[in-house]
Amino acid sequence: MDSSTSFSQKLSIEKEKISNSKTNAVIRTRFDKAVNEINQGGLLKGKTFLVKDNIAIKNEPLSCASNILKSYISPFNATAIERIQNEGGLITGQTNCDEFAMGSSSEYSIYGSVKNPHNLDLVAGGSSGGSAAAIAENLADIALGSDTGGSIRQPAAFCGIYGLKPTYGRISRYGLVAHASSFDTIGIMSKEIDDIRKTLSIISGKDRKDATSVNNKVDVYKSFKTVPFPSSVGVIKEEILNELNSEIADRYRYLVTYLKSKNVAIKEIDLPFFKYSIPTYYVLTMAEASSNLSRFDGVRYGNRADSADLSELYLKSRTEGFSDEVKRRIMTGTYVLSSGYYDAYFSKALKVRRLIKDGYSSLLSGCDNLLIPSTPDLPFKLNYRLNNPIKMYLADMFTVPMNLAGIPSLNIPAGFSSKKLPIGFQIVGNSFKEETLFSFAHILEKEEIFDKI
Ligand code: GLN
Repeated sequence: MDSSTSFSQKLSIEKEKISNSKTNAVIRTRFDKAVNEINQGGLLKGKTFLVKDNIAIKNEPLSCASNILKSYISPFNATAIERIQNEGGLITGQTNCDEFAMGSSSEYSIYGSVKNPHNLDLVAGGSSGGSAAAIAENLADIALGSDTGGSIRQPAAFCGIYGLKPTYGRISRYGLVAHASSFDTIGIMSKEIDDIRKTLSIISGKDRKDATSVNNKVDVYKSFKTVPFPSSVGVIKEEILNELNSEIADRYRYLVTYLKSKNVAIKEIDLPFFKYSIPTYYVLTMAEASSNLSRFDGVRYGNRADSADLSELYLKSRTEGFSDEVKRRIMTGTYVLSSGYYDAYFSKALKVRRLIKDGYSSLLSGCDNLLIPSTPDLPFKLNYRLNNPIKMYLADMFTVPMNLAGIPSLNIPAGFSSKKLPIGFQIVGNSFKEETLFSFAHILEKEEIFDKI
């Protein structure tokens, strides 16, 4: 059997799996087109990709799970998509998410909620919940999502897979619909560390279409065979662990003890300005979102309401187009940017961000990696936090700091709770040190630590 026959068989199998899936993770497929793209060779030859519905694929819908873009078709490819296809990667479909990537549960979507593949009564996490659930169900090899405050790592933790939020600037944002531009990163999910690494090496690097992208190569060929444990790892203190779900905390303690037994120097750390991370993150991202989303006015993109009067046309298009959570953020963002409150909120939050960034850089000059739980809780029930935005926001307490600081972080699957729900931890590193995250994750996987508990 030649390789193109086996790739087309693989596509048929995945297509069938998607049509039988009960998680509502995949909202559109393009297998008919992917089959014709099989002949392209390259480093990602035959690897299948599902893509969050906020990343542009030429001639495909790009709705961001929002009414306002329901009928929008992208006329261009995101740079990441272009690079994947040039290396033989096959884009097979698009995944469900929170509207404009705002949320932590993938419930704020015009397509309905994504369900957790490990228990259909629970959320898959968000906002890239469709991508995470799809990977957990083996609907593709690799998925792309986006991470502004945790939207790769938190759903990866809830679905039991690897999820990388790279260093800010590592991957071009061209073609990623902007949520909060100084935080947004495209991220990568898979069950295989090596697939994440390979994909990163292909899609990273300078892109003249994104001025914040950085020219820094990832070495794809470096072998994992001889990697040692990191020599020093920063871990969180008991007083924070005591606040977490007890099964997550127990697993974390177990891992720390294990690392000590391997002679890794363990340093107890304070997470810099921890209690200010969530408010700082939400002030800044809502401000940026209110500005970014002003382009969706019913005239330039997507759905246009019926009206002869221009102001009314804007008003009606936006009122009908956005759902409550997006409106809440646009209004709060506009408020914190308004002249009377700019200094009290926006400008203060910028200063705190700086302190947080400096805090993490000094922590990472004292140890190779940090190990931090990805979530304070196990996956929660569908509808449970929908009417309580503050509770929803708190789901991100361990993930937003890395976006505030711009540093890379990888969620690793860390086994299951007594009720068979996935638990995830983050390995965090210094800017552009993704290699250290992969090596650490790889050695933990090889030692099968979590299967031993
Ligand atoms: N849950 C966070 C938020 O709602 C993170 C979103 C994201 O990373 N896209 O803003």
